[in-house]
Amino acid sequence: MKEQFTRKIKAFASQLGFDYCGIAKAQFLNEDARRLETWLKKGMNGSMRYMENYFDLRVDPCKLVPGAKSVITLLLNYFPIEKQNPDTAKISKYAYGRDYHEVIKKKLNKLMELIRKNAGEINGRGFVDSAPVLERTWAQRSGLGWVGKNGNLINKQSGSFFFIATLITDLELQYDDPFVKDYCGTCTRCIDACPTDAILPDKVVDGSKCISYFTIELKEMMIPENMKGKFENWMFGCDICQDVCPWNRFSSPNNETEFIPVSEILNFSIKDWEELTEESFKKIFSHTPLSRSKFPGIKRNLNFLKSP
Ligand code: SF4
Ligand code: SF4
Repeated sequence: MKEQFTRKIKAFASQLGFDYCGIAKAQFLNEDARRLETWLKKGMNGSMRYMENYFDLRVDPCKLVPGAKSVITLLLNYFPIEKQNPDTAKISKYAYGRDYHEVIKKKLNKLMELIRKNAGEINGRGFVDSAPVLERTWAQRSGLGWVGKNGNLINKQSGSFFFIATLITDLELQYDDPFVKDYCGTCTRCIDACPTDAILPDKVVDGSKCISYFTIELKEMMIPENMKGKFENWMFGCDICQDVCPWNRFSSPNNETEFIPVSEILNFSIKDWEELTEESFKKIFSHTPLSRSKFPGIKRNLNFLKSP
């Protein structure tokens, strides 16, 4: 029975547009608990205090879904074929189209509905980014790739431009073998290219030094002075450590219509960004990830890039 459910779930995932689906046994993540604790103790979460919450839940899926037996990991490609105007303020590729939380939540709800139709009233919860789940660990445990030195999950066939979603359920399934190899080898391209030295040895990324943190997560209106001149024109997020990764030569354009880029993201010049009003910002970007920074955050980032 569990073989049959597993086959069906993978087929449903593919019908819903997910590019990869892997399944791991739900269990306490011992090693990750230790790594996360050290990372938090060193303050690498910066002012992202929410990362300190729900520690127990993050490392134990059974605390998130009582009786959890399986963790289903789903990857959705967001690599765009379109490019931004090269002279403008840069925006991370994941933010070109509609907010992925909205897009993926819909797919997860549909997947849950299809599983229930087949397996009956099982318990399960879907997560995307917004909840205490160590997605990359689960993806690795489900055989979907390895965690690179830049902290991203890398799939050997397709690279790292993926959103990762997780569905934890009390349904017993057939488990994939974990991905045990690490194909980073002696490469250090991401470490060498990171302009703020945020990538440390042992696959530790100091979130409090990352451009994505400063441009998206930091709520204060001032970006620290010692970061001046280091952002390489990134206004929202940063893709440098993924763009230089040799495994991303295998990235192919996504097929998700919801991720078709907002034309202003591709075409706005610096002048257009400067002249943008709050009203227009809300009208154009309210359903994109840019809304997370809000209008004052975008203006702050723009001013920081411009200031000498
Ligand atoms: S996203 Fe940019 S700043 Fe952050 S670790 Fe990667 S290269 Fe460094
Ligand atoms: S750039 Fe090199 S070291 Fe960094 S994640 Fe990619 S393969 Fe690994």
